[in-house]
Amino acid sequence: MTSLSQNTGLAMSVTEVLTGDASSMPVLRGEMRTHEPMSKHTSWRVGGHADNYYVPADLDDLSNLLQGSIHESIYVIGLGSNLLVRDGGLRGMVVALHARLNDLRLIEQNQSGGLIYAGAGVACAKVARFAAKHNLAGAEFLAGIPGTVGGALAMNAGCFGSETWKIVERVQIINHSGHVFIRQPGEYTIGYRSVTLQRTVETEWFAGGYLRLPHGDRTESWQRIKQLLVQRVDSQPLNQPNAGSVFRNPPGDYAARLIEACSLKGCRIGGAMISPKHANFIVNTGNANAADIEALIKMVQDRVKKETGVELIQEVRVIGDARRHS
Ligand SMILES: Cc1cc2nc3c(=O)[nH]c(=O)nc-3n(C[C@H](O)[C@H](O)[C@H](O)COP(=O)(O)OP(=O)(O)OC[C@H]3O[C@@H](n4cnc5c(N)ncnc54)[C@H](O)[C@@H]3O)c2cc1C
Repeated sequence: MTSLSQNTGLAMSVTEVLTGDASSMPVLRGEMRTHEPMSKHTSWRVGGHADNYYVPADLDDLSNLLQGSIHESIYVIGLGSNLLVRDGGLRGMVVALHARLNDLRLIEQNQSGGLIYAGAGVACAKVARFAAKHNLAGAEFLAGIPGTVGGALAMNAGCFGSETWKIVERVQIINHSGHVFIRQPGEYTIGYRSVTLQRTVETEWFAGGYLRLPHGDRTESWQRIKQLLVQRVDSQPLNQPNAGSVFRNPPGDYAARLIEACSLKGCRIGGAMISPKHANFIVNTGNANAADIEALIKMVQDRVKKETGVELIQEVRVIGDARRHS
């Protein structure tokens, strides 16, 4: 029998969920929930239920889970800060890595700089503080990104002129068969908020990143972090649930400028509103559902296309079924 915490009245044995056959599975030490509301795990605070939701105990446990769930459709998430889960929820299994793959280590340090290993579940802000503490420069921008290292690697998250893959030396991968291995940045096509493996392979995810940073000054890094956080508080609607920038900036322009030029600030559909503070943010005013947010995204795209000719491309990832299942 596998071990698990029963978090909901609907909790089942991990093996029962995966295969219905306990004998074929290694012992799992993580936490399995069924019918888990994704609104609890996304920064927009909306979204239907995940059929199954697994929080692995650690990387070995995740590997064991994957080895036993070859046929399962799996969706890996970090802090859900770039994610819209539709109201009908997600079939298959969500695997949540935040605070579980949370190893954060200084691997080497010399006069020119250092190398940090950060597990996929470590919060980006923690990496920024860790690097500053060790007099390493260049990770300060991560302080204001409210996601995990895994999410930052998947999205090539960035701000204020910096981005994640500029500091990546190599990445640790786990694939659908549970194998853990290393990939080099040269194996990916890396662009603005986009990271694609150049070859087609079995589905895989980031288990961690090795970040190479030059030598810096702790005090200067702390000042930079504070300055970046103040800029965010001044310009972003951080007091309302949101998912950061909804659209990528088109080449040579800003999505926010285009949306504002179409007089869409403050525009609402249901409980979703284009933030009056930052036009590229859609906020949940309290009672939004995912359909409201998705409809507002579509409305913005249509209006901006009609009035400016520019096609805005979503930065947020939209997943799940539109309709609720009984
Ligand atoms: C207030 C606010 C401000 C923001 N500011 C910025 C900003 O300045 N710059 C910026 O780039 N983003 C910003 N974002 C968006 C978001 O924080 C980033 O995209 C972040 O990198 C997402 O990380 P996450 O852990 O929350 O990922 P999630 O939202 O959980 O997932 C995002 C995507 O990454 C995938 N993913 C997650 N973990 C893994 C993994 N281990 N392996 C493979 N795929 C994975 C998911 O499947 C999903 O497709 C902001 C969001 C908010 C709410």
